[in-house]
Amino acid sequence: MSKRAYNFNAGPAALPLAVLERAQAEFVEFRESGMSIMEMSHRGAIYESVHNEAQERLLNLLGNPQGYKVLFVQGGATTQFAMVPLNFISAGQVGSYVMTGSWADKAFKEAKLAGGAHVAATSEDKKFLAIPALDSIKPADNAAYLHITSNETIEGTQYAEFPDTGSLPLIADMSSDILSRSIDVSKFGLIYAGAQKNLGPSGVTVVIAKEELIAESPSTIPTILRYSTHYKNNSLYNTPPSFSVYMVNEVLKWVEEQGGLSGIETKNRDKAGLLYETIDGSGGFYRGVAEAGSRSIMNVTFRMESEELEKKFVKATEQEGFVGLKGHRSVGGLRASIYNAVPHESVKALTDFMKHFQQTQG
Ligand SMILES: *Cc1c(COP(=O)(O)O)cnc(C)c1O
Repeated sequence: MSKRAYNFNAGPAALPLAVLERAQAEFVEFRESGMSIMEMSHRGAIYESVHNEAQERLLNLLGNPQGYKVLFVQGGATTQFAMVPLNFISAGQVGSYVMTGSWADKAFKEAKLAGGAHVAATSEDKKFLAIPALDSIKPADNAAYLHITSNETIEGTQYAEFPDTGSLPLIADMSSDILSRSIDVSKFGLIYAGAQKNLGPSGVTVVIAKEELIAESPSTIPTILRYSTHYKNNSLYNTPPSFSVYMVNEVLKWVEEQGGLSGIETKNRDKAGLLYETIDGSGGFYRGVAEAGSRSIMNVTFRMESEELEKKFVKATEQEGFVGLKGHRSVGGLRASIYNAVPHESVKALTDFMKHFQQTQG
């Protein structure tokens, strides 16, 4: 194989090489069945065992929170933006949203269409480069839930701690930082994440929810959009994205081998630390975008003196085998997405390159 790229893509993103190799070995024939996992019935014993195993592994990695169920759904986190309000907002209620940037805004807009939306706090005054102080978050009196985006993939901000909402369900879009650190799941009513950043390939979306919230859903909304449909049918109401679920199961095994969430968190903090130190130690040549207390350990955003220099930087990285360092088109600048599967070696190579590039410009 040619050299593996230093992959800093924001999503779909790097997967562990060991997982890809395992999938390759099992690709044509799965568990002596005479066929691949993509060719077999999702109602058969082999697929179902993979499906159930992935759910168990995920809960296990999260510390086996009591009374929670894992669902596998489709349509990406974007479909969850609509399902959350459709399922939870009753007449006279609203969803309360913490506005932290691009993804929170998309979720908020769907709630506006599907029930009613309220702003519980915003960091717009800081151009979304910080997470609002937890004590400034004020859900509406008629809120059905409080929605947060635990990591803003585009701006590069992340909650260091989560708000305590008492009996009001806390709902989180964790698409870009799920399983990147230890969390207390019992604080959340529902967590959702598209798989393609930290969990596997695109095609499956994971929902981790309190059973009492998803056991019954309004019968006025389409069947496939009810959490209860997926809950009652063990996420097998319709054909699941079976290969994606299989891949998630393999990624979860890999996370276990990294020492679970505490092991992964240590590695992630080391990688992010190395990158932020390089940025902060560059004497202003590189400038971190997010405010200090809100910096993401998954998406490191930074800028340089001019857009021209940034372009030159991106071009030079591409020539050296680095991929995905251009910032999102909506905000510009630079971004290194360093999800779980991005090896320390890639981050080290990037920081070495950054120092070298700075010298050549000096
Ligand atoms: C990538 C991303 C999404 C969108 O996910 P899709 O699977 O494309 O719908 C939503 N929220 C966050 C935080 C993301 O990073």
